[in-house]
Amino acid sequence: MSSSNNTELHDLGVAGLAARLQARQVSAVEAARHFVQRARQQQALGAFLALDEDVALAQARAQDEALAAGRAGPLAGVPIAHKDVFVTRDFPSTAASRMLAGYRSPFDATIVANLAAAGCVSLGKLSCDEFAMGGSNENVAVPAVGLSEPQPVRNPWDTARVPGGSSGGSATAVAAGLVPGATASDTGGSIRQPASFCGTTGIKPTYGRASRYGMIAFASSLDQAGVVARSAEDCALLLSQLCGPDVLRDSTSLDMPPEDFSRQLDGRIEGLRIGVPREFFGEGLQDDVRTAVQAALREYEKLGAKLVDISLPRTDLAVPVYYILSPAEASSNLSRFDGVRYGHRAAQYTDLMDMYKKSRSEAFGEEVKRRIMIGTYVLSEGYYDAYYLQAQRLRRMIADDLQQAFTQCDVIAGPVAPSVAWTIGGKSDPLATYLADIYTLPASLAGLPAMSVPAGFGEGGMPVGLQLIGNHFGEARLLNLAHRLQQATDFHQRRPALA
Ligand code: GLN
Repeated sequence: MSSSNNTELHDLGVAGLAARLQARQVSAVEAARHFVQRARQQQALGAFLALDEDVALAQARAQDEALAAGRAGPLAGVPIAHKDVFVTRDFPSTAASRMLAGYRSPFDATIVANLAAAGCVSLGKLSCDEFAMGGSNENVAVPAVGLSEPQPVRNPWDTARVPGGSSGGSATAVAAGLVPGATASDTGGSIRQPASFCGTTGIKPTYGRASRYGMIAFASSLDQAGVVARSAEDCALLLSQLCGPDVLRDSTSLDMPPEDFSRQLDGRIEGLRIGVPREFFGEGLQDDVRTAVQAALREYEKLGAKLVDISLPRTDLAVPVYYILSPAEASSNLSRFDGVRYGHRAAQYTDLMDMYKKSRSEAFGEEVKRRIMIGTYVLSEGYYDAYYLQAQRLRRMIADDLQQAFTQCDVIAGPVAPSVAWTIGGKSDPLATYLADIYTLPASLAGLPAMSVPAGFGEGGMPVGLQLIGNHFGEARLLNLAHRLQQATDFHQRRPALA
């Protein structure tokens, strides 16, 4: 294959690349080399926390053999990278925390193993907010590949801006063409919001569809793995392989057979009812985002769908509810990092208590500590009923509101976030970033599948995403809607100019 063709490998996407690999027009080794080289050229973006050409090439050679022998999986030789909250045998797994710097897992997370079994080649690990806590990918405590200090990930559309978070490394790597697709995780919006900020397509499936085994836990009742790629078609291919039952190793895994999420991509959407929640278009939504989202909704009308005015009356409560429940779960999950069983241990200490204190004080970042403190507080005697239990009740009511809405519509659509990506350092008050999660949290609290689809550009030429929320197990329908929009528009095909 000539080098002039090689320069286009990063424009092919998962589907295009998989097809050429299967046809043996390009080898897995060529593809792996190409993307590793691009990742190295763009290391100033800070997307990769680990990148290992030897590992990638060894995996690629095995895929070339499988292809030659006619026993290759559907994604044989497609290069991907994993958000660093999924543990991997072949690369360190840090969750972007000093607590886990250099940690190597003895096993692969189930979703990592699933994608490897489908033939994907892993290039390395992608940056994120520490323990997936954040919405800007500025909470990074370990240095990215090629950088000497820990740094925020940069948005390839404007490197002075954040890529969103917590899966900012995944969205940046895909937007910059450093990988055709990446894994990501969503607890309260961490796939959809960075996908939106970087002009990529991202989906989180129904809670329980993707195994949490080997996913470094943040808030277990909300954490869900998913993918970021360039198109709905690419997301469908990856998600179909990533999901699947894992009931023996994840107690909340759904015992449902794997599904082909690509099956409905071209399906007709005439007559489909798209619910538009009025609470998602109120005060706080920036005009540029509103304009792009409304244009996308009109596009659906042209395609024959019907827009239905709906109400999600407790939308305002999603932020307080999530920021009580998720820290509560985090404070419990992160108690395992005590310097004994896992993680950093202080060099000097007087007794066991002192060792716990020093190890945790030294190795957790500010945002992680803030959440452990909030979580411990809301779970403590005397406050448990007032905060934690009350939040649990409201979580149920928010989920009920969504079920009520689904009696009037088939899917829900609206903005992903109130604004486009902001400047690095531009939101110094943590509350300001918490509030920006308002539109993604309801689907997370209800365990619903949801995605972000490129819908246009706003202030500063930055991408704007449209959020689509489905009822439980509605992934194929969401991907169908996203694909139809992507056939009618070209926002997902635009590329940032890279340095
Ligand atoms: N921004 C949200 C938070 O900070 C969501 C994070 C996530 O989904 N992992 O918790």
